[in-house]
Amino acid sequence: MTLGTIAQDAYLVAAVLFILSLAGLSKQETARRGNILGMVGMAVAIVATVVLALRDSVRPVAVTALLIALIFIVGASIGVWRAKTVEMTQMPELIAMLHSFVGIAAVLIGYNSFITEAHPDGGHLTEVYLGVLIGAVTFTGSIIAYLKLAAKINSKPLMIPGRNIINAIVLIVMLGMIGWFIPTHSMWPLAIMTVLAMLLGLHLVAAIGGGDMPVVISMLNSYSGWAAAAAGFMLNNNLLIITGSLVGASGAILSFLMCKAMNRKFLSVILGGFGDEPHAKAAEVTGEYHETSATDVAQELEESRSVIIAPGYGMAVAKAQYPVATLVERLRAKGVNVRFAVHPVAGRLPGHMNVLLAEAKVPYDIVLEMDEINPDFPETDMVLVIGANDTVNPSAAEDPNSPIAGMPVLEVWKAKQVVVFKRSMATGYAGVQNPLFYRDNTQMLFGDAKASVDAVLNALQ
Ligand code: NDP
Repeated sequence: MTLGTIAQDAYLVAAVLFILSLAGLSKQETARRGNILGMVGMAVAIVATVVLALRDSVRPVAVTALLIALIFIVGASIGVWRAKTVEMTQMPELIAMLHSFVGIAAVLIGYNSFITEAHPDGGHLTEVYLGVLIGAVTFTGSIIAYLKLAAKINSKPLMIPGRNIINAIVLIVMLGMIGWFIPTHSMWPLAIMTVLAMLLGLHLVAAIGGGDMPVVISMLNSYSGWAAAAAGFMLNNNLLIITGSLVGASGAILSFLMCKAMNRKFLSVILGGFGDEPHAKAAEVTGEYHETSATDVAQELEESRSVIIAPGYGMAVAKAQYPVATLVERLRAKGVNVRFAVHPVAGRLPGHMNVLLAEAKVPYDIVLEMDEINPDFPETDMVLVIGANDTVNPSAAEDPNSPIAGMPVLEVWKAKQVVVFKRSMATGYAGVQNPLFYRDNTQMLFGDAKASVDAVLNALQ
């Protein structure tokens, strides 16, 4: 057996491990195993790639080995440092940034492949062209997504007049220029297309508004997968083709499911808000709100038979999941039926709340999805909304002019009583006013979510 066949076999093993990893990640109970399988697969893939690189080295093997080791040390140090310091709430930003790396890597591989291949055929040039195109769109699109998620730029959609026509023309021009690139082998069409693709990526994501960002993240995840697959074709690397396709396909499926969950048109979101015309003015939200205290909330909880907790981004920032888990334990010990209602886009990344609650050792069986628990709100004594806002906004269901109109939400307002834990009357991520706060059956408990839940715990007898 040659080194080459062993490496190819190792690639196959890694590919199978990646598939098993994805399957594991689809359920909370098996997610840890899925992660481990993925890590083992990645280790196998890296070892095989390094072995092949050393075998095919054009420089002295020791020099190549040293270069690889150097890159490893730099990359691993940055990776370990980021993984250790990143807050759970900053994960989407980090993911967006990592997607931009995949994008730029595909662009660089494309250029390298174009420059170093002495006699490229049409097939190879097409791979280079498409790889660079997808990579460039992913690169700038992910940077804009990063800037929006990190609140470094406004998350409002950029609505340039005629933007869909502009996008369509740019796309046609880019695809048309392949007819100039292949016969001439000139760098010019490649360079012009790269600039256009970068502008397109920038514009596509800039046109998507705050509420649709979760879908954008998973869509860019998909694009980065296709960019990696394209790089795999250029490098003749089967594993990269398989892995890239897995990421591309799973990202596309996730985007589709999220669009369904949020009642958005899939095509409209992936085409940068295509067909999303500006809404009429949303209804004014005015009225008086009622403030409550931790002692009152504790007393009302004692008198309740059924309680539902709707967690959101604020619970994550405050790291309130730990006292919330203790509160749940105490209430359950008193015979109260306590459950969690998890909205598909609560927090800042899909599955965010599930991970936090699992971390705080909340039993899985009391954590329910939106569709499972929505019918139960009318029969519920008390709902605690902890740091959630957009995901419990009744205007989504009641105001057709609201920017989040049509997005399914947790129907918390149907419960007998609602207590909202937040620091102020500020809006959530989508920047939309929330009439829930002014309802007669809603009370506001102002303060940091962790401090407020601790105070309720202290007040409980
Ligand atoms: P929201 O962003 O709508 O609301 C969070 C609320 O938490 C805010 O109104 C804020 O109010 C409050 N808050 C912030 N910090 C604290 C704190 N320390 N203590 C108490 N409260 C706090 O969150 P939701 O989870 O309801 O909705 C998620 C939103 O994020 C949706 O719009 C979704 O589309 C979007 N999104 C989701 C992603 C995903 O994949 N899940 C990715 C990107 C965006 P105040 O400032 O008054 O305290």
